[in-house]
Amino acid sequence: MAQIKKATRKEIEEIKQLFLAHYPDSVTELSYANLYELLISVMLSAQCTDKRVNLITPALFEAYPDPVALANADLDTVKQHIKTCSFFNNKAKNLIKMAQSVVENYGGEIPLEQKELITLAGVGQKTANVVMIEYTGANLMAVDTHVYRVAHRLGLSSATTASKCEEELSKKFKTDLHLLHQAMVLFGRYHCKALKPECEECFLTHLCKSKAGFKARG
Ligand code: SF4
Repeated sequence: MAQIKKATRKEIEEIKQLFLAHYPDSVTELSYANLYELLISVMLSAQCTDKRVNLITPALFEAYPDPVALANADLDTVKQHIKTCSFFNNKAKNLIKMAQSVVENYGGEIPLEQKELITLAGVGQKTANVVMIEYTGANLMAVDTHVYRVAHRLGLSSATTASKCEEELSKKFKTDLHLLHQAMVLFGRYHCKALKPECEECFLTHLCKSKAGFKARG
């Protein structure tokens, strides 16, 4: 990726305030009824769209309504349920292993601590952070493909990994990270898209460091 100018402190603050003003109370687009369902949905959403996950999960949750049911599930049957999701082979294995460790180590209750969540199979820091952000409003950042792209276009990060980008955004924004995470996901998904970003109608054009933004300014 070409070198992009860094946003100044003043610009970072303006970007933050504009995101908060445009996305004051955004939440995930994943459908879930409880922590168990949220965790599964977030695990399935890696490299897969929320829309696709929402199509898969109703039947999955009906077949396996709690960690005990999923811990005892037949692998091939779980694969069948999630076969339209990317990486379904690995995801099916991880879902069962996750449920088994919840049953064995946490008495069948999904732990609501980031440090404990990441001990579960298939749950990395990003998944744990997204769950904590959504379920508890924790002051945490999580970087998916949308957040990563938006952060780079706005000069908020020059990191080459998602975890470094998460660190940089957390340091720069400091507060309201959960809201900013959701804002950047939605902004990236629907406006600052990978191909054909909607720069003409963008509320951040004057702060954008990317070529797309420069082009829009003429
Ligand atoms: S101006 Fe375009 S590239 Fe820049 S942040 Fe807005 S939509 Fe994204």
